[in-house]
Amino acid sequence: MRQSIDRFNYPKNSQNVVKEFHDLLRKGKFRIPICLKCDLKIWPPANVCSNCYSREIRMSKLESRGRLIEHSFSHIDSTKTLGLVEISGIRIIGILSEGNLNPGSAVKLTKCGLDKDNSPYYEFSAA
Ligand SMILES: [Zn+2]
Repeated sequence: MRQSIDRFNYPKNSQNVVKEFHDLLRKGKFRIPICLKCDLKIWPPANVCSNCYSREIRMSKLESRGRLIEHSFSHIDSTKTLGLVEISGIRIIGILSEGNLNPGSAVKLTKCGLDKDNSPYYEFSAA
């Protein structure tokens, strides 16, 4: 069994956006860090804005509807369809809970969280 490792390498002194992101995700809440100075959506989540290096960041709820860009099949655990989805300008790889979606299909985020290895997961279905 894999031990729980502090794989996100949390810093100790500043606002910990990455930890906040994962804590919210664990509760099934999907929030995106947005820079207070330049409005950049910081994705993947980071503790510093990659545009202006500000550490003043708020967590914001995004539109849960998006568009499927592409999909493929994974056979790692069980057969799953994985899709690359664009929501409000960010791209997320998630599990598609319906098999008949095609690139361009409207999808919505139906579920998110952390799995047993503390890895984020996202599930999408037809919007
Ligand atoms: Zn910024």
